[in-house]
Amino acid sequence: MLRIGLTGGIGSGKTTVADLFRSHGFPVIDADLIARQIVEPGQPALTELAQAFGADILHPDGSLNRGELAARAFVDPERTALLNSITHPRIQAETARQFAAAEAAGEPAVIYDMPLLVDNGLHEGMDLVVVVDVDKQTRLRRLVDSRGLSEEDALRRMDAQVADDVRLAAADEVIDNNGPVEGLADQVAAVVEKIRR
Ligand code: ATP
Repeated sequence: MLRIGLTGGIGSGKTTVADLFRSHGFPVIDADLIARQIVEPGQPALTELAQAFGADILHPDGSLNRGELAARAFVDPERTALLNSITHPRIQAETARQFAAAEAAGEPAVIYDMPLLVDNGLHEGMDLVVVVDVDKQTRLRRLVDSRGLSEEDALRRMDAQVADDVRLAAADEVIDNNGPVEGLADQVAAVVEKIRR
């Protein structure tokens, strides 16, 4: 089974590209979704987080208050490490489970949609790396216009990620999303053609 990493900076259009791969029949392992699911109410990670950081990290309905957790966890390296020690093993286990399930189902290829693929060195384990590329100013404008982020927040999030040239250096295939969204379908189809060849 071919492991295909799909990545790009925040606001580059990864979700849109992942949906196009889905429409070609590829299963997609969604890293952001897994990170959210392992801290849903009833999940052991959420209970452990509340024990470690206090019940105030929960909303009254029992769901995770992300802002409150961030305020308590990202204060020093030890607490950040504590947060990671609770969440990362669960995320890794669920990701591995989904890869194994795709393989057991006889899928010829699977897409791993992972914003931090290159930041975390996970591109090394992929057979093919697809990077969605958009220049920084355009991403900034899209994040502000269609996501409602403030410019400051969007820039801060961009700067926390690996530099665009480092991400691009890891790419086997680059999808250019600087133009209109309609330009993506043909580019994805061309990559699909290469994968299936
Ligand atoms: P994130 O890293 O934040 O999850 P993402 O890389 O998954 O983002 P998308 O959610 O697919 O990116 O796209 C970001 C925003 O930009 C969305 O609102 C999307 O509709 C819009 N967008 C994507 N591609 C284009 C395009 N070519 N032209 C204009 N807007 C676009």
